[in-house]
Amino acid sequence: MSKKTKSKADAYSFFSCIEKNFDKAARYLSIKKGLLEQIKSCNAVYRMHFPVKIGKEIQVIEAYRVQHSHHKLPCKGGIRYSIKVNQDEVMTLAALMTYKCAIVDVPFGGAKGGIKIDPQIISTENIEKITRRYTSELIKKILIGPGIDVPAPDYGTGEREMSWIFDTFLSLSPGEVDALACVTGKPVSQGGVRGRKEATGLGVFYGIRELCKMKEEMLSVGLDVGLNGKKVIIQGLGNVGYHAATFFHEAGAIIVALAEREGAIYNKKGLNVSNVIIHLKKTGSILNFPESKNIEDTEKALELECDILIPAALENVIHKHNANRIKAKIIGEAANGPVTPEADDILGKKGVLIVPDIYLNAGGVTVSYFEWLKNLSHVRYGRMEKRFSENMNTELLQVIETSCRKKIPIEEKKMILRGPREIDLVRSGLEDTMINGFHKIRDLKKSLKIENMRTAAFVLAINKIIDSYEKLGIFP
Ligand code: GLU
Repeated sequence: MSKKTKSKADAYSFFSCIEKNFDKAARYLSIKKGLLEQIKSCNAVYRMHFPVKIGKEIQVIEAYRVQHSHHKLPCKGGIRYSIKVNQDEVMTLAALMTYKCAIVDVPFGGAKGGIKIDPQIISTENIEKITRRYTSELIKKILIGPGIDVPAPDYGTGEREMSWIFDTFLSLSPGEVDALACVTGKPVSQGGVRGRKEATGLGVFYGIRELCKMKEEMLSVGLDVGLNGKKVIIQGLGNVGYHAATFFHEAGAIIVALAEREGAIYNKKGLNVSNVIIHLKKTGSILNFPESKNIEDTEKALELECDILIPAALENVIHKHNANRIKAKIIGEAANGPVTPEADDILGKKGVLIVPDIYLNAGGVTVSYFEWLKNLSHVRYGRMEKRFSENMNTELLQVIETSCRKKIPIEEKKMILRGPREIDLVRSGLEDTMINGFHKIRDLKKSLKIENMRTAAFVLAINKIIDSYEKLGIFP
């Protein structure tokens, strides 16, 4: 590659965007250059090509697994199926996983995988073949395992793919008692944890809800405190966008627009998310949803009037060409890398509050961590304490009733008596993680007078990673 081409490619690579954000944060810290370089760079990049027989043809599939950081093990991160998958993208997404895990105190190094296919045009049978072959390639190179590297769902993959990965791993690892922990995001019937599916979307909701509780921030963008009545636009109705939309809707926010690949729909009075999904399943598209306006050019939906914009699909959707037209006062990065550094600067100058991906979409990996712990402990959450809590609560209520000489109504009693189920514990663990993460970033932003939440989040992540290097006795 000539020098000229290389510098042009580098300037526009997704990885270099993340490096820029990292460098901004590094200015607030006095850390040796070499150590910063070590944190930034990808520890291992594995690119593979393998043949798969599709129909009568042999197709050569291009795939990746990148382990960005080994400062904590196992490495962790999803696997993406998309025709746009490339090395730069997988490396960047792996790096984001490292920072994300550090921010929410999840003890993993970052990783990411990708297979360059379009799952929408490949039969289920062939997707299974490709997934199983990819997994055996990972096993062959010791790039998967409960203590090595633990994949999860990402764009284009879900529970189904995770169960094929687990099954392939198990069949090639006889006697591995912890085999279930080799992958997360599995169906509950196969060792998954309740609450994983909606975790990223719910985490996005918890993060934005917390921001909207802050008087100072809401005043800075001219909004009232609280989520009720806020106008929200969601781009992407996949697993993350769909669940986020549902939680915002339930909390009283008004979903004014939803955008998908084929176009967007708009209704200033609000869209009923579950009805949109029914319509999507029936017609194969969100367009022509009753009482809403179609927007043919889906990107235009990002520019509509709203309070909160949630890009929940792919990277680089808000860039220097459309940033000036964005009207949202808050942008919640549910996707990884949806705002380019140039757009970030433009929006920052306009006073838009951006809640960064490395914090806001960490709900997925947080609950993946809970799933991994469940698999390693071989016991369902709540199994040990549910009955115990119920018995304790019964006794407590009896004492209250006797001393007050008053009977508590049966329905209220039932609610108070109930011991925690797995879903209750997972959700409260997620809520606590997201609230704590938000305040750690906010406090750091205030104390170091950092210009925005993204830089503060990077500062927090770098500090955490340095801590673990110090604990390991590396780079004293
Ligand atoms: N793919 C998700 C992410 O980007 C989840 C990763 C995981 O659970 O390991 O955060």
